[in-house]
Amino acid sequence: MKIAKLDAIPLKIPFTIGPLVPKSGGQPWHAQEIVLVRVETDDGLVGWGEAFSYSCQRAVVASIEDMIAPLAVGRKVVDIPAFMRELQQMVHLFGRYGIVMFGFSGLDIALWDLAAKAKGVPLARLIDPAAAMTPLEGYSSLYRYGDIDLVKRKCRESLDHGYRVIKLHEITEPEVRAAREEIGGDIALTVDTNCPWTRQEAQRMALAFKPYDLTWLEEPIFPHDDYEGLAALGADAGIPLAAGENLCTRYQFAQMIAGNAVTYVQPSITKLGGVTEFLEVARLTGAAGLQLMPHSPYFGPGWLATLQVMSACPDPGYVERLFMDHDAYLYGEYVHPIDGAFKVPDGPGLGLEPDPDVIKAYRVCN
Ligand SMILES: [Mg+2]
Repeated sequence: MKIAKLDAIPLKIPFTIGPLVPKSGGQPWHAQEIVLVRVETDDGLVGWGEAFSYSCQRAVVASIEDMIAPLAVGRKVVDIPAFMRELQQMVHLFGRYGIVMFGFSGLDIALWDLAAKAKGVPLARLIDPAAAMTPLEGYSSLYRYGDIDLVKRKCRESLDHGYRVIKLHEITEPEVRAAREEIGGDIALTVDTNCPWTRQEAQRMALAFKPYDLTWLEEPIFPHDDYEGLAALGADAGIPLAAGENLCTRYQFAQMIAGNAVTYVQPSITKLGGVTEFLEVARLTGAAGLQLMPHSPYFGPGWLATLQVMSACPDPGYVERLFMDHDAYLYGEYVHPIDGAFKVPDGPGLGLEPDPDVIKAYRVCN
Protein backbone atom coordinates (compact mmCIF):
# COMPACT_ATOMS: atom_id res chain seq x y z
CA MET A 1 0.00 0.00 0.00
CA LYS A 2 1.09 3.55 -0.72
CA ILE A 3 0.18 6.31 1.73
CA ALA A 4 -1.57 9.10 -0.21
CA LYS A 5 -2.94 11.14 2.69
CA LEU A 6 -2.53 11.30 6.47
CA ASP A 7 -4.76 13.43 8.68
CA ALA A 8 -4.93 13.97 12.44
CA ILE A 9 -8.52 14.63 13.55
CA PRO A 10 -8.97 15.83 17.16
CA LEU A 11 -12.29 15.10 18.89
CA LYS A 12 -13.59 16.12 22.30
CA ILE A 13 -16.63 14.18 23.48
CA PRO A 14 -18.18 15.32 26.78
CA PHE A 15 -18.74 12.69 29.43
CA THR A 16 -20.15 12.21 32.90
CA ILE A 17 -18.24 10.27 35.49
CA GLY A 18 -20.21 11.04 38.65
CA PRO A 19 -21.11 14.04 40.81
CA LEU A 20 -17.65 15.61 40.71
CA VAL A 21 -15.28 17.36 38.31
CA PRO A 22 -12.57 14.86 37.39
CA LYS A 23 -8.98 15.78 36.62
CA SER A 24 -6.48 14.54 34.07
CA GLY A 25 -2.84 15.60 34.03
CA GLY A 26 -3.61 17.95 36.93
CA GLN A 27 -6.28 19.85 34.96
CA PRO A 28 -10.09 19.68 35.02
CA TRP A 29 -11.25 16.95 32.64
CA HIS A 30 -14.62 17.44 30.96
CA ALA A 31 -14.33 15.65 27.64
CA GLN A 32 -12.80 12.51 26.24
CA GLU A 33 -9.96 13.56 23.97
CA ILE A 34 -9.43 11.39 20.92
CA VAL A 35 -6.98 12.05 18.11
CA LEU A 36 -8.07 10.02 15.11
CA VAL A 37 -5.37 9.23 12.58
CA ARG A 38 -6.90 8.79 9.14
CA VAL A 39 -4.68 7.24 6.47
CA GLU A 40 -5.79 6.99 2.86
CA THR A 41 -3.95 4.87 0.31
CA ASP A 42 -3.50 5.67 -3.35
CA ASP A 43 -6.09 3.02 -4.23
CA GLY A 44 -8.70 4.66 -1.99
CA LEU A 45 -8.65 2.43 1.10
CA VAL A 46 -9.02 4.28 4.41
CA GLY A 47 -7.49 3.13 7.70
CA TRP A 48 -8.09 4.54 11.18
CA GLY A 49 -5.77 4.81 14.17
CA GLU A 50 -5.82 6.60 17.50
CA ALA A 51 -3.06 8.53 19.24
CA PHE A 52 -3.16 9.02 23.02
CA SER A 53 -3.88 12.69 23.71
CA TYR A 54 -5.29 13.24 27.20
CA SER A 55 -4.36 16.78 28.23
CA CYS A 56 -1.97 17.10 25.27
CA GLN A 57 -4.22 17.07 22.22
CA ARG A 58 -2.78 20.00 20.28
CA ALA A 59 0.77 18.78 20.83
CA VAL A 60 -0.12 15.31 19.55
CA VAL A 61 -1.84 16.73 16.46
CA ALA A 62 1.23 18.90 15.80
CA SER A 63 3.56 15.90 16.10
CA ILE A 64 1.52 14.00 13.53
CA GLU A 65 1.13 16.92 11.12
CA ASP A 66 4.62 18.39 11.41
CA MET A 67 6.88 15.43 12.19
CA ILE A 68 5.21 12.19 11.10
CA ALA A 69 3.07 12.98 8.04
CA PRO A 70 5.98 14.52 6.06
CA LEU A 71 7.91 11.26 6.51
CA ALA A 72 5.00 8.95 5.75
CA VAL A 73 2.99 10.50 2.93
CA GLY A 74 4.05 9.20 -0.48
CA ARG A 75 5.73 6.11 1.00
CA LYS A 76 4.90 2.58 -0.07
CA VAL A 77 4.51 0.28 2.94
CA VAL A 78 5.22 -3.42 2.47
CA ASP A 79 6.41 -4.39 5.94
CA ILE A 80 4.73 -2.32 8.70
CA PRO A 81 7.23 -3.08 11.54
CA ALA A 82 10.19 -2.27 9.25
CA PHE A 83 8.53 0.95 8.09
CA MET A 84 7.73 2.07 11.64
CA ARG A 85 11.28 1.31 12.75
CA GLU A 86 12.64 3.43 9.91
CA LEU A 87 10.40 6.38 10.80
CA GLN A 88 11.17 6.11 14.52
CA GLN A 89 14.88 6.10 13.75
CA MET A 90 14.54 9.31 11.74
CA VAL A 91 13.07 11.22 14.69
CA HIS A 92 14.67 9.43 17.63
CA LEU A 93 16.34 12.66 18.75
CA PHE A 94 12.91 13.84 19.99
CA GLY A 95 12.75 10.97 22.47
CA ARG A 96 11.46 7.44 22.63
CA TYR A 97 8.54 8.17 24.91
CA GLY A 98 5.62 10.60 24.92
CA ILE A 99 4.07 12.85 22.31
CA VAL A 100 5.90 11.55 19.23
CA MET A 101 5.38 7.90 20.17
CA PHE A 102 1.70 8.62 20.76
CA GLY A 103 1.53 9.96 17.19
CA PHE A 104 3.39 6.93 15.82
CA SER A 105 0.94 4.68 17.65
CA GLY A 106 -1.93 6.27 15.74
CA LEU A 107 -0.18 5.78 12.39
CA ASP A 108 0.76 2.18 13.19
CA ILE A 109 -2.81 1.24 14.17
CA ALA A 110 -4.15 2.80 10.95
CA LEU A 111 -1.61 0.86 8.85
CA TRP A 112 -2.63 -2.44 10.49
CA ASP A 113 -6.30 -1.55 9.90
CA LEU A 114 -5.43 -1.04 6.21
CA ALA A 115 -3.40 -4.25 5.97
CA ALA A 116 -6.30 -6.30 7.35
CA LYS A 117 -8.82 -4.49 5.15
CA ALA A 118 -6.67 -5.22 2.08
CA LYS A 119 -6.99 -8.93 2.92
CA GLY A 120 -10.69 -8.63 3.81
CA VAL A 121 -10.21 -10.04 7.32
CA PRO A 122 -10.49 -8.66 10.88
CA LEU A 123 -7.13 -7.67 12.32
CA ALA A 124 -7.20 -10.51 14.88
CA ARG A 125 -7.36 -13.02 12.02
CA LEU A 126 -4.59 -11.26 10.10
CA ILE A 127 -2.38 -11.74 13.17
CA ASP A 128 -3.63 -15.25 13.97
CA PRO A 129 -5.88 -16.98 11.42
CA ALA A 130 -7.18 -19.21 14.23
CA ALA A 131 -8.21 -16.29 16.51
CA ALA A 132 -11.54 -17.26 18.11
CA MET A 133 -12.89 -13.70 18.39
CA THR A 134 -15.25 -14.69 21.19
CA PRO A 135 -16.32 -11.96 23.66
CA LEU A 136 -13.56 -10.79 25.98
CA GLU A 137 -14.14 -10.42 29.72
CA GLY A 138 -13.84 -6.81 30.81
CA TYR A 139 -13.33 -4.91 34.02
CA SER A 140 -14.86 -1.76 35.34
CA SER A 141 -12.17 0.89 35.78
CA LEU A 142 -13.56 3.39 38.27
CA TYR A 143 -12.45 6.98 38.72
CA ARG A 144 -10.77 8.14 41.95
CA TYR A 145 -13.73 9.43 43.95
CA GLY A 146 -12.13 9.79 47.39
CA ASP A 147 -15.58 9.26 48.87
CA ILE A 148 -16.72 6.05 50.50
CA ASP A 149 -20.38 6.34 49.54
CA LEU A 150 -19.52 7.08 45.91
CA VAL A 151 -17.08 4.19 45.77
CA LYS A 152 -19.77 1.85 47.07
CA ARG A 153 -22.34 3.21 44.60
CA LYS A 154 -20.02 2.85 41.60
CA CYS A 155 -19.04 -0.67 42.68
CA ARG A 156 -22.71 -1.61 42.87
CA GLU A 157 -23.41 -0.06 39.43
CA SER A 158 -20.45 -2.00 38.01
CA LEU A 159 -21.89 -5.26 39.33
CA ASP A 160 -25.24 -4.31 37.77
CA HIS A 161 -23.44 -4.11 34.39
CA GLY A 162 -22.27 -7.69 34.90
CA TYR A 163 -18.63 -6.97 35.71
CA ARG A 164 -16.86 -9.57 37.83
CA VAL A 165 -13.65 -7.56 38.05
CA ILE A 166 -13.50 -4.01 39.43
CA LYS A 167 -10.56 -1.62 39.53
CA LEU A 168 -10.43 1.28 41.95
CA HIS A 169 -8.20 4.33 41.61
CA GLU A 170 -8.28 5.09 45.33
CA ILE A 171 -5.16 5.80 47.37
CA THR A 172 -6.46 5.55 50.94
CA GLU A 173 -7.49 2.49 52.91
CA PRO A 174 -11.10 3.33 53.90
CA GLU A 175 -12.30 3.45 50.26
CA VAL A 176 -10.60 0.15 49.42
CA ARG A 177 -12.11 -1.47 52.49
CA ALA A 178 -15.56 -0.09 51.60
CA ALA A 179 -15.28 -1.48 48.08
CA ARG A 180 -14.38 -4.95 49.30
CA GLU A 181 -17.23 -4.91 51.81
CA GLU A 182 -19.66 -3.80 49.12
CA ILE A 183 -18.76 -6.37 46.45
CA GLY A 184 -18.05 -9.36 48.72
CA GLY A 185 -15.27 -11.88 48.42
CA ASP A 186 -16.08 -13.45 45.04
CA ILE A 187 -15.49 -10.39 42.84
CA ALA A 188 -11.91 -9.62 41.80
CA LEU A 189 -10.73 -6.25 43.13
CA THR A 190 -7.68 -4.31 41.96
CA VAL A 191 -6.30 -0.89 42.89
CA ASP A 192 -4.58 1.50 40.47
CA THR A 193 -2.83 4.34 42.26
CA ASN A 194 -1.10 6.21 39.37
CA CYS A 195 2.32 6.59 40.97
CA PRO A 196 1.60 8.56 44.18
CA TRP A 197 4.20 7.19 46.60
CA THR A 198 7.86 6.84 47.47
CA ARG A 199 9.17 3.31 47.97
CA GLN A 200 8.65 3.61 51.73
CA GLU A 201 5.12 4.99 51.44
CA ALA A 202 4.23 2.26 48.95
CA GLN A 203 5.44 -0.42 51.38
CA ARG A 204 3.21 1.00 54.09
CA MET A 205 0.15 1.32 51.85
CA ALA A 206 0.58 -2.12 50.30
CA LEU A 207 0.46 -3.58 53.80
CA ALA A 208 -2.64 -1.48 54.60
CA PHE A 209 -4.37 -2.85 51.47
CA LYS A 210 -3.27 -6.42 52.12
CA PRO A 211 -6.45 -7.58 53.94
CA TYR A 212 -8.59 -6.77 50.88
CA ASP A 213 -7.23 -9.54 48.66
CA LEU A 214 -6.23 -7.39 45.68
CA THR A 215 -5.65 -9.18 42.39
CA TRP A 216 -3.04 -6.53 41.66
CA LEU A 217 -1.76 -3.17 42.89
CA GLU A 218 -1.02 -0.88 39.94
CA GLU A 219 1.72 1.75 39.65
CA PRO A 220 2.28 2.36 43.38
CA ILE A 221 5.67 4.11 43.09
CA PHE A 222 6.93 7.32 41.50
CA PRO A 223 8.83 7.31 39.24
CA HIS A 224 6.99 4.65 37.31
CA ASP A 225 10.24 3.17 36.00
CA ASP A 226 11.78 2.52 39.43
CA TYR A 227 11.90 -1.19 38.64
CA GLU A 228 14.19 -1.94 41.57
CA GLY A 229 11.69 -0.36 43.96
CA LEU A 230 8.79 -2.27 42.41
CA ALA A 231 10.66 -5.57 42.60
CA ALA A 232 11.45 -4.99 46.29
CA LEU A 233 7.86 -4.00 47.03
CA GLY A 234 6.43 -7.04 45.28
CA ALA A 235 8.76 -9.35 47.20
CA ASP A 236 8.14 -7.72 50.58
CA ALA A 237 4.42 -6.95 50.44
CA GLY A 238 3.27 -10.13 48.73
CA ILE A 239 0.76 -8.31 46.50
CA PRO A 240 1.12 -8.83 42.72
CA LEU A 241 2.04 -5.58 41.00
CA ALA A 242 1.01 -4.18 37.61
CA ALA A 243 2.57 -1.48 35.41
CA GLY A 244 3.37 -0.59 31.83
CA GLU A 245 0.88 2.04 30.66
CA ASN A 246 3.62 4.65 30.94
CA LEU A 247 6.17 2.76 28.86
CA CYS A 248 6.72 2.94 25.13
CA THR A 249 8.27 0.41 22.75
CA ARG A 250 9.31 -3.19 23.43
CA TYR A 251 12.67 -1.97 24.73
CA GLN A 252 11.27 -0.22 27.80
CA PHE A 253 9.05 -3.22 28.54
CA ALA A 254 12.03 -5.55 28.22
CA GLN A 255 13.80 -3.52 30.92
CA MET A 256 10.78 -3.70 33.23
CA ILE A 257 10.43 -7.45 32.68
CA ALA A 258 14.15 -8.06 33.19
CA GLY A 259 13.93 -6.16 36.48
CA ASN A 260 11.30 -8.59 37.87
CA ALA A 261 9.23 -5.48 38.60
CA VAL A 262 5.68 -6.76 38.00
CA THR A 263 3.38 -9.75 37.57
CA TYR A 264 0.90 -7.96 35.24
CA VAL A 265 2.24 -6.24 32.11
CA GLN A 266 0.11 -3.38 30.79
CA PRO A 267 0.89 -2.19 27.25
CA SER A 268 -1.24 0.72 26.06
CA ILE A 269 -1.80 0.52 22.34
CA THR A 270 -2.28 4.25 21.65
CA LYS A 271 0.91 5.09 23.55
CA LEU A 272 3.60 2.45 23.18
CA GLY A 273 3.83 2.37 19.38
CA GLY A 274 0.61 0.74 18.22
CA VAL A 275 -0.10 -2.84 17.17
CA THR A 276 3.52 -3.54 16.18
CA GLU A 277 4.96 -2.83 19.63
CA PHE A 278 1.96 -4.32 21.46
CA LEU A 279 2.48 -7.70 19.78
CA GLU A 280 6.17 -7.67 20.70
CA VAL A 281 5.33 -6.85 24.32
CA ALA A 282 2.73 -9.63 24.41
CA ARG A 283 5.39 -12.04 23.16
CA LEU A 284 7.94 -10.87 25.76
CA THR A 285 5.30 -11.12 28.50
CA GLY A 286 4.39 -14.70 27.60
CA ALA A 287 8.03 -15.73 27.28
CA ALA A 288 8.70 -14.42 30.80
CA GLY A 289 5.72 -16.29 32.24
CA LEU A 290 3.96 -13.04 33.19
CA GLN A 291 0.34 -12.05 32.64
CA LEU A 292 -0.72 -9.60 29.92
CA MET A 293 -3.25 -7.02 31.17
CA PRO A 294 -3.66 -4.26 28.57
CA HIS A 295 -4.32 -0.61 29.44
CA SER A 296 -7.27 0.54 27.34
CA PRO A 297 -9.19 3.56 28.67
CA TYR A 298 -10.17 4.41 25.10
CA PHE A 299 -13.29 4.80 23.04
CA GLY A 300 -11.85 5.33 19.55
CA PRO A 301 -9.85 3.08 17.20
CA GLY A 302 -7.51 2.34 20.14
CA TRP A 303 -10.40 0.50 21.80
CA LEU A 304 -11.08 -1.66 18.74
CA ALA A 305 -7.37 -2.27 18.15
CA THR A 306 -7.07 -3.48 21.76
CA LEU A 307 -9.97 -5.91 21.28
CA GLN A 308 -8.46 -7.20 18.03
CA VAL A 309 -4.95 -7.80 19.36
CA MET A 310 -6.28 -9.33 22.58
CA SER A 311 -8.31 -11.74 20.45
CA ALA A 312 -5.09 -12.81 18.77
CA CYS A 313 -3.26 -13.41 22.07
CA PRO A 314 -3.46 -16.79 23.83
CA ASP A 315 -3.94 -15.35 27.35
CA PRO A 316 -4.97 -11.72 26.89
CA GLY A 317 -6.14 -10.73 30.38
CA TYR A 318 -9.23 -8.53 30.91
CA VAL A 319 -10.35 -5.53 28.85
CA GLU A 320 -10.11 -2.25 30.77
CA ARG A 321 -13.26 -0.13 30.33
CA LEU A 322 -13.43 3.29 31.98
CA PHE A 323 -16.67 3.50 33.94
CA MET A 324 -18.14 6.66 32.43
CA ASP A 325 -20.91 7.69 30.06
CA HIS A 326 -20.25 9.71 26.91
CA ASP A 327 -22.58 12.05 25.06
CA ALA A 328 -21.83 10.02 21.90
CA TYR A 329 -19.83 6.97 20.84
CA LEU A 330 -17.89 6.34 17.64
CA TYR A 331 -18.65 2.61 17.71
CA GLY A 332 -22.09 2.35 19.31
CA GLU A 333 -22.83 -0.89 21.13
CA TYR A 334 -19.27 -2.24 20.85
CA VAL A 335 -18.03 -0.10 23.75
CA HIS A 336 -20.77 -1.37 26.07
CA PRO A 337 -20.46 -4.56 28.13
CA ILE A 338 -22.81 -7.50 27.83
CA ASP A 339 -22.74 -9.38 31.11
CA GLY A 340 -19.31 -7.85 31.80
CA ALA A 341 -17.81 -8.85 28.43
CA PHE A 342 -17.16 -7.10 25.12
CA LYS A 343 -17.94 -8.33 21.63
CA VAL A 344 -15.11 -8.26 19.11
CA PRO A 345 -16.35 -6.88 15.78
CA ASP A 346 -15.60 -9.19 12.86
CA GLY A 347 -15.63 -6.76 9.95
CA PRO A 348 -12.42 -6.17 7.99
CA GLY A 349 -9.56 -4.32 9.70
CA LEU A 350 -10.44 -3.04 13.17
CA GLY A 351 -13.89 -4.45 12.56
CA LEU A 352 -15.94 -1.24 12.37
CA GLU A 353 -15.80 2.24 10.85
CA PRO A 354 -16.13 5.31 13.11
CA ASP A 355 -19.49 7.08 12.98
CA PRO A 356 -19.06 10.08 10.61
CA ASP A 357 -21.83 12.03 12.36
CA VAL A 358 -19.99 11.74 15.71
CA ILE A 359 -16.75 12.91 14.07
CA LYS A 360 -18.55 15.87 12.53
CA ALA A 361 -20.32 16.84 15.75
CA TYR A 362 -17.31 16.62 18.10
CA ARG A 363 -14.38 17.62 15.88
CA VAL A 364 -12.21 20.30 17.47
CA CYS A 365 -11.52 23.26 15.20
CA ASN A 366 -8.42 25.15 16.31
MG1 LIG B 1 -3.47 2.59 35.28
